This record gives sequence, structure tokens and C-alpha cells, in this order.
Amino acid sequence: MSCAIELEKHGIKPLIIEKGNIVNTIYHYPTHQTFFSSSDKLEIGGVPFITEKQKPVRNQALAYYREVAERKQLRLHTYEHVTEVVKQSGKFDILTKNYFGKLSSYQAEHVIIATGYYDQPHYMNVPGENSPKVMHYFKEAHPFAGKNVMVIGGKNSAVDTTLELHKAGANITVLYRGEAYSKSIKPWILPEFGSLVRKEIVQMYFQAQVKKITDDYVYFSASGESYKIENDFVFAMTGYRPDYAFLKRIGVEVETETGRPVHDQETYETTIPGLYVAGVVAAGYNNNRIFIENGRFHGEAIAESIVNSR
Ligand code: NAP
Repeated sequence: MSCAIELEKHGIKPLIIEKGNIVNTIYHYPTHQTFFSSSDKLEIGGVPFITEKQKPVRNQALAYYREVAERKQLRLHTYEHVTEVVKQSGKFDILTKNYFGKLSSYQAEHVIIATGYYDQPHYMNVPGENSPKVMHYFKEAHPFAGKNVMVIGGKNSAVDTTLELHKAGANITVLYRGEAYSKSIKPWILPEFGSLVRKEIVQMYFQAQVKKITDDYVYFSASGESYKIENDFVFAMTGYRPDYAFLKRIGVEVETETGRPVHDQETYETTIPGLYVAGVVAAGYNNNRIFIENGRFHGEAIAESIVNSR
């Protein structure tokens, strides 16, 4: 949306194609998520985002971005999935399939891929991970009251999920592969989490490796010992990855080591002239480097590059 707004400032009226709804990723956040960012740092297009509390919640952000789309009269095709982007004779052919299976095609001089990463969980590839009791997304804690819940991971989603589950009365065990608390954990959520661990209200294992997940147990090792813990549900908060298969299929070069789509650091243009990456998809594996706060400014640079190339 930010890219589109910036392009409109230059008299270009781009089409946004979105496979879900407006700000689909935020829609899929935990229902009661409070953002780490303050409202002003989530603003796009100069539209003020004012909330009573410094940090907004998911619902306020949904209302804000809906309003921005409406006020800026963005050309939006929602529930339409891009299947192919092919460059031919200097132009891009974009093929899509909508919610009802209807196929469409478009032509464009420039394409911006701003597909984020939240739709592709980073799988652990352990036996049992595909069981319905294993989830890579957390929505609400209520269904897990009184249940034995395992949280895997040691960064912000793992900590947030644990705090929510605790409020609902789940029995929580956290498995983290690191040796100590990650430096990426936001400083204002770590004290509460640390306190639950210290008081042994939450069981935490460092240097933990999950071996397998069965209907009733999670098998893992930690600091050289093997464990088997009774378990009802698992939240594998192991992070997310951009859709590399899609990027590679359309010809974007991806660095093997970092997972970054190769792009110009100033303009965000990939090695395919006229094709850009914007937002967290540009970050590769290190998704703690780009987030809404800074990704929202990519549009300015991209719009300038597009205008200069014409
Ligand atoms: P993340 O930062 O990528 O963390 C993933 C965690 O899972 C890390 O601790 C990682 O270990 C661990 N992990 C990865 N692969 C694993 C594997 N195969 N086996 C076991 N453990 C594995 O993901 P995230 O916590 O979901 O956060 C994603 C982004 O969302 C971040 O930018 C975060 O700040 C943001 N976020 C925002 C909010 C909010 O605004 N309220 C809430 C949650 C998250 P290592 O530590 O060893 O890498």
C-alpha cells in the first residue's frame, strides 16, 4: 500500500493484487496482538494513526489500513493470487487466479513484490510436525486452558504466545535451541517471561532439540539429556520465510546464505530490470532487520527509481 501511495504521488496509478484481504498478514496476527511499534511508526501515506495508548492493537491497525486504502482510493484486487510473472519483450505478464478460480492476466512495465513472509512457517522438519496439534500460528489462548502446551522457539512470538497462554491457565513448557535468552526479545516483555520461568510456573529448556512429536508426547533432548513430556498442543513459533519457490520461479536470484533476494540496496530493484522487492521479503532469513516500521519507506525509493527509469 505504501508503494502504491508513493507511486500515486508521481501520477502513476498502480494496481495492487492481494491474495487475501487488505493487510492480510495483520489480519492473521494473534487476535489480541499489541504491536511493538507505536502508532506513528506504522503510518503510511501521511495519514495520521492516532491511538489512545502508545502502541496500537491489531484491530486498530486493521481499521487504520482499511481507512488509508479508502481515502487514497487505492486500486485493489483482493482475493486474487498471482501465479506467474513473466518478462517478455520488455514488459511483464502477470497471471492470476481469484478466490473462485477465475483466471486473469495483466501487463505491466514494473512489478513490485511485497509478499512478506508470514504465510510460510519455518518448519523444523521433525516427525509429527504435520499433526493437527502442532501449530505455527497463535490466535487466542482460551482453547488451551488447563492443557499441556509446548512452545518451541525463543524469540518474540514464542515469548508473546507463552505470556498469553499463561493468562489463560495453560501448563506451558518452552523449548529453545539457544543457550540463553535471545537479545532479540523486546526488553519490555522479557521481565514477565523471565519471572514465570524463575518461579517455575513455565518450564523452560535451553539448548533443546525436538526429536519427535506424537499424539501424547513431545520427545526432545536438552543439554545432553533426553526427555519425553506429556503434551496436548504444540506452538512451533519458529519464524517465517518468504516464498522462495515463487521468487525463484519468476527468476529472482536469491542468495543461498542469507536468503535475500539479490537487489540494489538503494532502489530495491532486483537483477530483473523493472522488478522490485519491498518490505520484509527483501530481508531474507534475518526478518528482525526489516519490519513495518522501516519497510514502509521502501515505496519512496522504489517510486523514485521507477519514475527515473521512464
Ligand atoms: P523469529 O524472530 O524468526 O524467531 C524464531 C525462533 O524460532 C528463534 O528463537 C529461532 O531460534 C527458533 N527456531 C527457528 N528455527 C528453528 C528450528 N528448526 N528448531 C527450533 N527452533 C527454531 O520469529 P518470530 O518470533 O515469529 O518473530 C518474527 C517477527 O515478528 C520478528 O520481527 C518479531 O519481532 C515480530 N513479532 C512482533 C510482535 C509484535 O509486534 N507484538 C510479536 C511477535 C513477533 P534462534 O533464536 O536460535 O534463531
